[in-house]
Amino acid sequence: MDFTTEIKKHEKGFYVLSQRHVRAFLFEGKDFNILVDTCFGGDISQAVKSISEKPVKVIFTHCDRDHIGGESLFEDKYIHPAEYSCCLEKNGFMIDAKPLWEGDIIDNGNFKFEIIHIPGHTPGSIALLERDKRLLISGDSVQTGSIYMFGAGRSLQAFKASMGKLIGIKDSFDVAISSHNDLEILPEKLYELESLADDILKGNIPEAKSAPSQMPAEVKIYGKNNVSFFLYEIKN
Ligand SMILES: [Zn+2]
Repeated sequence: MDFTTEIKKHEKGFYVLSQRHVRAFLFEGKDFNILVDTCFGGDISQAVKSISEKPVKVIFTHCDRDHIGGESLFEDKYIHPAEYSCCLEKNGFMIDAKPLWEGDIIDNGNFKFEIIHIPGHTPGSIALLERDKRLLISGDSVQTGSIYMFGAGRSLQAFKASMGKLIGIKDSFDVAISSHNDLEILPEKLYELESLADDILKGNIPEAKSAPSQMPAEVKIYGKNNVSFFLYEIKN
């Protein structure tokens, strides 16, 4: 498949790199650049070089294929260790990336990111908080589209707790920057995501809607207030 990267500069000074339905983000620094995710691979490394030739540190928000596709194209890579076995189980290979922990700081002189562990969508999903620029890079976990919550490593309990954790720091950012669907998400959406997870965990199941035909037959969409999950069909 052809994965060509489209580049756009965001008003907050970083670059949005899009391939089909997924985005990566490049944050130019004084001595090195930070690349969050690598989409499907394709021409992502040329796209990054066309913006800047400085060395690149890659931080993966999680190990889903559309985020780590270009991992072999880069040398200096980091991921939360809870993704190691998940990646092996899901993708059939061990990702070659160094561990990145809750509370670690990655500072390139222009952008200073704090790592926040938000398990749920995957065991080692992270968000990156930039307090000065009031940005949260939230991967797949905060978005307006349906979030994949079925299959290996997903946990609604952990997801709900992670939304609570982000609600606890919501005054530190104006907007969450998402990998899919709407680029910018207001912090209020965190309450809706937490509430949807809570409803389902308590057995208040919203009406199931059918998922697109490329999804497994047993997967349905459960949602309310413009947030939703892909889940295996819940049978009473
Ligand atoms: Zn994704």
